[in-house]
Amino acid sequence: LLQLYSPLNFLGMVYREIKQALTDMEKMFSLLAQNTEIQDAADAQTLKTQAATIRFDAVDFGYETNRQILRGVDFEVPAGKTVAVVGASGAGKSTLSRLLFRFYDVSSGRITINGVDLRALTQASLRAHIGIVPQDTVLFNDSIYYNIAYGNTGASRDEVIEAARSAHIYDFIQSLPDGFDTVVGERGLKLSGGEKQRVAIARTILKNPPILIFDEATSALDSKTEKAIQAELVTISANRTTLVIAHRLSTIVEADLILVMEGGRVIERGTHRELLDLNGQYARMWALQQQTSAEEPVV
Ligand code: ATP
Repeated sequence: LLQLYSPLNFLGMVYREIKQALTDMEKMFSLLAQNTEIQDAADAQTLKTQAATIRFDAVDFGYETNRQILRGVDFEVPAGKTVAVVGASGAGKSTLSRLLFRFYDVSSGRITINGVDLRALTQASLRAHIGIVPQDTVLFNDSIYYNIAYGNTGASRDEVIEAARSAHIYDFIQSLPDGFDTVVGERGLKLSGGEKQRVAIARTILKNPPILIFDEATSALDSKTEKAIQAELVTISANRTTLVIAHRLSTIVEADLILVMEGGRVIERGTHRELLDLNGQYARMWALQQQTSAEEPVV
């Protein structure tokens, strides 16, 4: 019986491993297959640029045909500049980033990069040009090294380490029991929101994309971490065309252009100074933020 037990035990272990791997794959496919309706055009072009100007031209969009979310959204992010979007929850801010990544196609109007409609580009080349630092980074059940290197699988170990340094997560990694080999994710070491966002920043630095989407965390990070992440954002957004979905106004004071969204429309636009002078919705949000603690998101 003992002779039988050992291989059975081994098979049990293999079975559990395979099951977990399949679960991970399932998650990944469900992420990848968010919308299989998006197909490359037969004559789709390959995007190849280091300086991307993004335009939203009279964009209407709804996830479902009977519920319109975006209405006539018009704006431009010139190459290398930063545009920040603010507005109440549900205003449509994150929807802009999903459309730019082409998880969905617009219902009318168009989104262009250097004048070319996203629908005329291959999805692979479009996505290779965009780095996303999401609100909540998904970590793979693998080493922290793998989780950073995922940004560019061709990167050397030195480049991965350099990216970790630039994202200010190197010292933290060195303090872990197995350093870069420490397994993180659901079945490994759990990282805090700030640490996960830094992993995403390191991944993005490694990917080195000309377009950056930064979806700020809604959950409150402690103010020291928040300030550090803001400083990192300023560093990584330099010379990249950047769209920031902001929940704290302090993040975006320096943005080249701020869009204020309400009910799927852009209701105000300008620099921080111009919007304060306008004395409208943005100025009200700013005044409210000055009264509340720095850690609480107000928008
Ligand atoms: P928050 O600040 O809370 O992140 P947001 O301004 O980014 O909000 P969006 O995530 O863009 O808002 O959502 C805009 C609207 O679209 C919301 O009313 C939301 O319920 C709806 N919505 C978002 N994703 C989907 C989806 N996959 N299917 C259907 N409706 C959706």
